[in-house]
Amino acid sequence: MTERETDIKKNIERIRSEIPAGVELVAVSKFHPAEAIMQAYEAGQRCFGESRVQELLEKKTILPADIKWHFIGHLQTNKVRQLVGLPSMIESVDSPRLLELIHKESEKKGIVTDLLLQVHVAKEETKFGFYPEELKTWLTTGEYMKFNSVRICGLMGMASNTPDMEVVRHDFRKIREIYDWIKSNVDISHFKHLSMGMSGDWPIAVEEGADIVRIGSAIFGDRQY
Ligand SMILES: *Cc1c(COP(=O)(O)O)cnc(C)c1O
Repeated sequence: MTERETDIKKNIERIRSEIPAGVELVAVSKFHPAEAIMQAYEAGQRCFGESRVQELLEKKTILPADIKWHFIGHLQTNKVRQLVGLPSMIESVDSPRLLELIHKESEKKGIVTDLLLQVHVAKEETKFGFYPEELKTWLTTGEYMKFNSVRICGLMGMASNTPDMEVVRHDFRKIREIYDWIKSNVDISHFKHLSMGMSGDWPIAVEEGADIVRIGSAIFGDRQY
């Protein structure tokens, strides 16, 4: 085995031993080759995260069929048709329009697509995601109920990219508050997941209630963009 292979195996075993039971690890494999994914697969990992439609398509075609893929990147509306049906979860739904398009494409394909709504609380990191008040207002209209070929399974969010862990914790707590608010004020039957936490901050996310963590570089090393 090369040094890199042992590293991926060791990293994934260490992280899996640290994550509490009941928290799902999404190994974020974006920009890493299929061989790297196979190292993690051989260490027992079955759930992987990708952020680009074409890359997911190519990897899914050649990798084992029992891998569950989570789509975590910004999804352009013109890529919806290509994506729907590939991942077991789309974590990054950031507008009512996108939700509607995923519903329509799922209906056309005769499937139901599980997804998470992405919320925006971090300082400037990404411009994507629902703003908290916008999300609450939209859910309160009940319009989402028309889209019966998608299941809204929870929320995904990111903390600000800062070494200040108090800010990070504050961001996660805010996402958790929105999650709790939806739980008690909106009737969505499959709403139960909270995806927060990446390589640098996942332990805090878990403390603040995450049950899905998305970890890339701590498993696979730095990405070559
Ligand atoms: C890339 C990415 C991750 C993984 O980030 P790491 O810092 O490499 O762990 C997690 N979530 C999203 C949405 C990402 O785009």
